[in-house]
Amino acid sequence: MNVVFHTLVSVATAAALSSRVKEKEPLNSTSNIAVLVAGFTAGVLSHGLLDWLPHQYPLRSIADVVVSLILFSGVWVLARKEARWILLTCFLGAIFPDLVDLGPAVLNKQMQLSLPMVKTFPWHWKEYSGSIYDGSRRWLSIANHLAVVAASGLLILQYRRGIIRRYATPSQNTS
Ligand SMILES: [Zn+2]
Repeated sequence: MNVVFHTLVSVATAAALSSRVKEKEPLNSTSNIAVLVAGFTAGVLSHGLLDWLPHQYPLRSIADVVVSLILFSGVWVLARKEARWILLTCFLGAIFPDLVDLGPAVLNKQMQLSLPMVKTFPWHWKEYSGSIYDGSRRWLSIANHLAVVAASGLLILQYRRGIIRRYATPSQNTS
């Protein structure tokens, strides 16, 4: 799917996991590292799920990257300081498969390199990818995108206290 949907899901995942971050413990404590690893893994797996669902590409690549960065930066600014590491980790996990599998092609094109292009993640292989390039199944694609947006929106709403500063309870805002 477009990067913007991966970004949105990463925000939702970060919101859901934010309550698991133990704020009284240092970031590099075992339990907090475990939450960050879980966030990165959830990002990678959610990427797989989204790419596997049948989908077209409503946004062109430049617009897609720009909108995704605006979305992520906006959430970053509104986020509680304590939630930013889990936000960043989920986001990196969610874009990691595309960086690995599509990054070399972009670099080759932009910088005239000849890096090897290998598709590591199965959801980028033809047999498991839900990409639709021939314009067919448009309504299924729209339905899947709406489902992703709705599910992410509900999660973010449900866990907004953990991630967005202005919704946090006073006890969460002590540091
Ligand atoms: Zn992908």
